[in-house]
Amino acid sequence: MNNYSWLFKISFKQRIWLLATVVGMLAIIGIGVLLDSTKESEESINFNIDMAIIDIAPNLGVTGKSLAREFGLPIDVSKKKPLRKLGVKDEELQHVIEHLLSHSESTLKYYVYAALVLWGLIFLVKTGRPDGSNVENRHDWYPRTPYVISLFLSVTIAGFFLGKSPNPMEGVVKVFKSMVGLYPDPIAKTVAFVFFLVLAVVGNKIICGWACPFGAFQELIYSLPILRKIKQKKLPFVWTNIIRTGLFLTVLLFLFGIIGDRKGTVIYHYVNPFNLFDLDFESLSILLTVIIALGGSFISYRPFCQLICPFGFISWIAERFSISRIRIDKDKCTQCGACIKSCPLEAAKGIVAGNRLPADCFSCARCLNVCPVDAIRYTFVFKKGTTLIMPSGGQ
Ligand code: SF4
Ligand code: SF4
Repeated sequence: MNNYSWLFKISFKQRIWLLATVVGMLAIIGIGVLLDSTKESEESINFNIDMAIIDIAPNLGVTGKSLAREFGLPIDVSKKKPLRKLGVKDEELQHVIEHLLSHSESTLKYYVYAALVLWGLIFLVKTGRPDGSNVENRHDWYPRTPYVISLFLSVTIAGFFLGKSPNPMEGVVKVFKSMVGLYPDPIAKTVAFVFFLVLAVVGNKIICGWACPFGAFQELIYSLPILRKIKQKKLPFVWTNIIRTGLFLTVLLFLFGIIGDRKGTVIYHYVNPFNLFDLDFESLSILLTVIIALGGSFISYRPFCQLICPFGFISWIAERFSISRIRIDKDKCTQCGACIKSCPLEAAKGIVAGNRLPADCFSCARCLNVCPVDAIRYTFVFKKGTTLIMPSGGQ
């Protein structure tokens, strides 16, 4: 693929789209910077073990139950007793404060996510394929550089610079945590979750494909041109989805206290790789999750997304409602298998077969310039004119 020739081959109208997208992204981020700079800092408050949970929790944006859980106390422990009387030590208090402050969200990051999704969406539906070019020139379509730029910005800015929170995985987990009283503001957590969900359906799973920092880190590693032969082996979707779904249900059973004797246990907490972006490995299990997920990405596509991430699971369900996505013209498709081979998952295979529930499609664009009969498009679902196979099986 030739990025240089792509830039010169796109039409004047597409250049306007490109320019408008960059301006739009800068405007979105500019608004985010402005709003973020007006937020008050929480770090100036002094806490000590003569204070009670009820005095500390509201200042850290959590409920008394959540703070009790952080100290390893039962969630129904008295919230009015000084921490000293509950057996909490000074060092423990400082550690918990540091940990909870690391969860405090950067509002700016929501704007960065929106800007990266806008970039990906316009590239996929408007600018990736030069207007008027024909199938012989398909290798110039959808060059990798715009994608790599997005992934790189995601890892550096939405990841290491802005820290671990917010992120799509927490977006799901915090909604359920707020249902068992671990956060005082369930509506705010629901709004954050809906925000991520909207970014998952404007383009098919596009928040995961183009903007999530841990997803982007895995994608960048997978894209390295090494171990290509091993990478051709795809994890069977039926198994990865059983594992991811089973884990999700198990987490809910523990969280709501249906299994185990302590309501409020969050298993995802022990495998949250987003801690990487705060360089805060609170437990060995988190460090191991990061090492295995990133190491595994050398040979397999986004192992954390496929096997563990709750947002990966939820956004896979939400793919049925995506308003723009991969579509295949079934009248043109010769079933040659080129897109299936280029797809790092079983998504293209499922779409070609017209499966109702194909594997996750991360809108990575790999299949968009391989079809020898020009049967694949990334379009809005309401666009009419051709007979298209969609993942839902609809046409
Ligand atoms: S599935 Fe992957 S890309 Fe999507 S939120 Fe989870 S870690 Fe990020
Ligand atoms: S290659 Fe696979 S995952 Fe990537 S856009 Fe195509 S169908 Fe989706």
